[in-house]
Amino acid sequence: MLAKKFINWLPYLILPGAGIALGVLYLTMRGSALAKTFPFYGSFVSLFIMITLERVWTWRHAKSQRHMIWRDLTSTMVQTFLIGGIFGAIFLPILHWGPQTFLGRRLLFGLSDQLGPLWVQVIAVSLLSTLWGYGMHRFEHYNSFLWKLHGYHHSVTNVQATNILVSNPVDYALRNVLGGLILSIVGFNPIAIVIAGVIDLNYGSFSHSGTDAKGGWMNYIFNGPEVHRWHHSVKLPDDPKFRYGCNFGVATTFWDILFGTFCLPKDANGEVLAPPALGHPEGYPDEPNYLKMLFAVRAFPALERLFEKKQQPISAPAE
Ligand SMILES: [Zn+2]
Ligand SMILES: [Zn+2]
Repeated sequence: MLAKKFINWLPYLILPGAGIALGVLYLTMRGSALAKTFPFYGSFVSLFIMITLERVWTWRHAKSQRHMIWRDLTSTMVQTFLIGGIFGAIFLPILHWGPQTFLGRRLLFGLSDQLGPLWVQVIAVSLLSTLWGYGMHRFEHYNSFLWKLHGYHHSVTNVQATNILVSNPVDYALRNVLGGLILSIVGFNPIAIVIAGVIDLNYGSFSHSGTDAKGGWMNYIFNGPEVHRWHHSVKLPDDPKFRYGCNFGVATTFWDILFGTFCLPKDANGEVLAPPALGHPEGYPDEPNYLKMLFAVRAFPALERLFEKKQQPISAPAE
């Protein structure tokens, strides 16, 4: 009886369990040589946990993305190692220029202590950065140029751990990096920004889990896979409020519920329904060529023609 109950609850426990395991890992590894020399280790541990779970417990309607593995790996590497560095080196000095020129100092608030104790700052940064992520993501669906960039993330035909970081780097940085940079010039404690960023990133990766995990009431707080799959649906319920999409939140569903863009259709028994199919709503196929995604050729017709010319077979000269 107890075993049966446990099996019924397992789909609800799997992601919170993985989250707690990761949290414990972070706490025990704090200050260790690995954490110091390779601060990204957590992302790779969470990726490993996710891929293992996906293998043993695949989502019922999953489509294989195996043929995209090199594209997925390249995009994940570029996003993890380059974006933060490039944006930090170029945009942070530009962002600092404003307060420095007009206030004579680098930060809007002189000292990070002025913004309260660390735990308050972690909550504030989490709220503000998820609000930024929500707003920017929603704007990317609305603005036709940015939608072409962000559309690459929507062309994937299955939502899974290996494609959470599959997107054009500018699209990714606008949603996930720029907000943190702006908060750092406001003067928030960098440690608060890092803690909030790690929490966001891990929840973000859970939302892209290709397992059959269920959210239950947690779907109304956290953006779990059942919720995020609807964001990737080729078709949404006929409702003007979903014209540009739904479920734009990264870690939390709070902002979607607040601003009326939350979508989670259920059947008569209250079971969450699966979307009809996952993919680009306008039918763009998944892009296997990472270079095309990197240069966002869909947004630049001249570049697209250049790529197509290169791919055309050289025709034999007429005799
Ligand atoms: Zn989107
Ligand atoms: Zn996604």
